[in-house]
Amino acid sequence: MAKYQDLTPRDRMTGYSILAIGCVALIAAALLVGKEHPLWFVGVALAVLAALVVWHTRTFGYRCPSCGAQFEVSVLRNFLAPNLAETKFLTCPVCKRKDWAKVVAKRG
Ligand SMILES: [Zn+2]
Repeated sequence: MAKYQDLTPRDRMTGYSILAIGCVALIAAALLVGKEHPLWFVGVALAVLAALVVWHTRTFGYRCPSCGAQFEVSVLRNFLAPNLAETKFLTCPVCKRKDWAKVVAKRG
C-alpha cells in the first residue's frame, strides 16, 4: 500500500522540471514539424500530454479535506478533473464529498 506525504520543495521542483521538459518538447515539435506536418505536431502534443498525465497519476495521490482519506485516481480522472496548482476537484471515495483534494506525494 502506498504511503503519502505532503509535497516537499523537492517534489515541487521535480514536478515543475518535468512540466518544463514537456513544454520544451512541445515547442521543439512545433518549430521542427509544426508548419509542414501539423498532424505530427498534434500527435507529439498528445503523446507529451499523455506522458505528463500518466507520470502525475503514478507519482501523486490526493487527500480529502473533509475526512482526511488519502486516495489515488485513474489517469482519465486525473486528466479530466479541474485542478489548481496543488489541489484537484474530486469526489472522495470514503466520505463521497466533492471538494478540492490536496495533492500529496506517493512514497514507496
Ligand atoms: Zn473524504
